[in-house]
Amino acid sequence: MTFKVNEVFHSIQGEGARAGRPCLFIRLTGCPLRCTYCDTAYAFHEGVMREQGDLLAEVRRRLGPPRTGPCAPFVELTGGEPLAHPDAPVLLRGLLDLGYEVALETAGSHDLTLVPREVVKIVDRKTPGSGESHRWLESNLECLVPGQDELKFVLCDAEDYDWARAWCAERRIWDRVEVLFSPAWGRVDPAWLAGQVLADGLPVRFQLQLHKLIWGAEARGV
Ligand code: SF4
Repeated sequence: MTFKVNEVFHSIQGEGARAGRPCLFIRLTGCPLRCTYCDTAYAFHEGVMREQGDLLAEVRRRLGPPRTGPCAPFVELTGGEPLAHPDAPVLLRGLLDLGYEVALETAGSHDLTLVPREVVKIVDRKTPGSGESHRWLESNLECLVPGQDELKFVLCDAEDYDWARAWCAERRIWDRVEVLFSPAWGRVDPAWLAGQVLADGLPVRFQLQLHKLIWGAEARGV
């Protein structure tokens, strides 16, 4: 089985409940969305075809034997939109079988029912400001595992904030899974967003993209 791979890189997870942990990222090529703030447009087309076995061997070589513990290195499949590859669930199963914790970053635009339940799903609920909110598959909410998966909102402006707050409240989704509110880089003042979350008493995790603070917004392979 082959996949078009944009890059494989070892870095610090920049977002979500696992922010700060060492992580090996596999970035697959291709995405059918075109978010207004996309920072990985280079992954739309660039990449090389690789065999699944070759990819798994690289993961083992670079991460070493699987370890346990709250900050053990883990592996994340990202993109692009990794689920645009119909065989991505098979690759995720292969990574799990190596014994690592495995995460998946996805836009929530593709069916999650085929993704192994134990894969940590970090699902990006696209807002109106992204220009791609209509791509959302509402049935994916049923696939989110409480205490494991995360629902992320990248907010582009005050309208996005109001929309995301209302959307979550309508579904009481923050009673079931961890919700992340993140300012779109360079478009929303983080202090403003943090203040709004506190003033409204929202049960969400405010987050910044740690890797951009460390290495800058334009750096690749981090
Ligand atoms: S889903 Fe991700 S990779 Fe695709 S356009 Fe949006 S931000 Fe870029």
